[in-house]
Amino acid sequence: MKKRILILGAGFGGLELASRLSEEMSDDIEATLIDRNDSFVFGFSKLDVMFGRRTPESIRVPYSSIAKPGVRVLQQTVTAIDPVAKRVTTDQDEFEADHMVIALGADYDLDATPGLGEAGYEFYSVPGAKRVSEVLPDFEGGRVIIGVCDALFKCPPAPSECALMMHDYLTRRGLREKSEIKLVMPFPSPVPPSPDTSAALLEGFAERGIEFVPGRKTKRLEPGMAILSDDSEMPFDLFLGVPRHRVPKVVEESDLSATGWIDVNPRTLETTHPGVYAVGDVSNTGVPKAGAFAEGAAKSVATALIAEINGEGEQELYPGAGVCYIEFGAKAIGKVDVNFLSGPKPTGHFHGASAEMRVEKERFRSTRRERWFGLA
Ligand SMILES: Cc1cc2nc3c(=O)[nH]c(=O)nc-3n(C[C@H](O)[C@H](O)[C@H](O)COP(=O)(O)OP(=O)(O)OC[C@H]3O[C@@H](n4cnc5c(N)ncnc54)[C@H](O)[C@@H]3O)c2cc1C
Repeated sequence: MKKRILILGAGFGGLELASRLSEEMSDDIEATLIDRNDSFVFGFSKLDVMFGRRTPESIRVPYSSIAKPGVRVLQQTVTAIDPVAKRVTTDQDEFEADHMVIALGADYDLDATPGLGEAGYEFYSVPGAKRVSEVLPDFEGGRVIIGVCDALFKCPPAPSECALMMHDYLTRRGLREKSEIKLVMPFPSPVPPSPDTSAALLEGFAERGIEFVPGRKTKRLEPGMAILSDDSEMPFDLFLGVPRHRVPKVVEESDLSATGWIDVNPRTLETTHPGVYAVGDVSNTGVPKAGAFAEGAAKSVATALIAEINGEGEQELYPGAGVCYIEFGAKAIGKVDVNFLSGPKPTGHFHGASAEMRVEKERFRSTRRERWFGLA
């Protein structure tokens, strides 16, 4: 009998898992990959959209391209998860499985930061990035704040990338002289696990006159004024925000997320329910919320399922390691290798920014397009 595997969410984690299972054991499984959207978007493409480098349409990779033996892809919204029965209800159907993997990512809680939706713009969703791309051409320079609303957010280098790209954008339009850029973050440094990366970013900020404001979150916005977590006030003409992140509502309602995210064994990604795993941003593993980490977790779960279904071999434990590319502006890209779980403290290694690294980042994108979607 084929094993029924339910994969909830076709993002970095779900797509990697489906690909691995199809490659390794397509004859033995019936995997169902469910996502509410019709297409996938690489998180970093949102930065390209906000600065007008790409259109929202051009960054979508359609799920209809996926043709993987042993895997069917359904566009449905998951409305209830029963981890005990391994049963899932969607807006269209109901499914039961032998194994279930939850890879539903993180949602945004705009209401947690009063005024963000009215006085500022979030740039972490595709509609948000698109909205920014529409307002930027009318911006005539002034005080720009890039502000983070809570400490747990996707891709910790992204706000720094946004600040550097904003510098380039304003320079290109001849507005940099009459503008100031402030980056307000809850951390003491831009990328705390990697002092080298933080030092390079701080140097890049200093060279460009970008002010880094550490240790503060954005608590609320009033028209033209950001109120920070220490109650200080910071005036702005343009506020670009990273909204507070939260677990998707359907997960919250499933009793899986007692600590706010799905608790798992960080090395095996098992939840407290046998046969139920959680990978990527939706889970609480102690590693950053980033695609490279979601992908690594999915690889580990694939080995667990393959070992279990084959009745031999064992799971490759999740190393908690990943690579992030960082847009440094002026067409240069840097890279940080971070490892969170192999030692007592996270470690990070920085590879200096260069134009050549863009080729490597492009390869990161194209290899995923090919492996997950069969697209060139
Ligand atoms: C601006 C920005 C830049 C980034 N840059 C990078 C980077 O350079 N490198 C990097 O590694 N990461 C980067 N990231 C982070 C990265 O995009 C995420 O961490 C990654 O996508 C997480 O993968 P995931 O599989 O956990 O979740 P996701 O990729 O978010 O996938 C979750 C999926 O679940 C689906 N879903 C959610 N709820 C439901 C439901 N109820 N029913 C059905 N489907 C549902 C969603 O539609 C989505 O497709 C960036 C993010 C942003 C916002």
